[in-house]
Amino acid sequence: MNEKMHLNITWLYPKEMSTYGDRGNILTLKKRCEWRGIEVNIDEVRLKDKPKENWTDLYFFGGGQDTAQTTVGEDLKEKKKFLQNEAQESKVFLGVCGGYQLFGLYYRDSSGQETEGLGILDIATRASNTRMMGNLVMEVDFLKDKMVGFENHSGETRLGQKAVALGKVLVGFGNNGQDKTEGAVQNNVYGCYLHGPVLPKNPTFADYLVKLALKRSYGEIELRFLNDSIELAAHETALQRAHKTR
Ligand code: GLN
Repeated sequence: MNEKMHLNITWLYPKEMSTYGDRGNILTLKKRCEWRGIEVNIDEVRLKDKPKENWTDLYFFGGGQDTAQTTVGEDLKEKKKFLQNEAQESKVFLGVCGGYQLFGLYYRDSSGQETEGLGILDIATRASNTRMMGNLVMEVDFLKDKMVGFENHSGETRLGQKAVALGKVLVGFGNNGQDKTEGAVQNNVYGCYLHGPVLPKNPTFADYLVKLALKRSYGEIELRFLNDSIELAAHETALQRAHKTR
């Protein structure tokens, strides 16, 4: 491959939906590509902005408070058809917590107010009286790896028929604290409750998403090896800590 590869990322609502440091996922995707000579372009889509047409390889949607979710949910209505088409075109999406919830059919907050989601994941979320907070560890079969992070949500998410769980909870609550599922996957749409942010401490998942997002333009590629000793040390520390504290 002679031409310089590039990855176009659309970051949905960077101001309203990055309360828990999820912007670190954008930095991780950017650095892990640039370290390999892959150019990264980032388009920040805010309230009232229109996402670029025929441009995005990967969409990122971070977490936020219920109030921000309501505001963003209202704005999402204008973008819903476009983003549904993008998901049907098998573009890659990653949503974390509030962003994950708004990939689903709806998010019902503690007052009973329902915010319509994009419907690109067959999930539904209802606020509960439990704050599901703490270290979270799950087993992810298709990565042949564990994923670690920190969860902080009251929303209980349940999967419908079209979605499958991203992983099986080993430590923590996950989607709802009952069925031992965490996150969801449908087509190339991925969602989870892992803050931290999720990607720096889970380089296997970060590279998996990069490869998937590059596939449309470049086919199956192998990503150059990176020395992930620091990332894997952080992963291991988070794993140990989770097993100790829960
Ligand atoms: N407001 C949502 C909940 O509490 C999501 C919170 C978040 O994005 N961390 O479930």
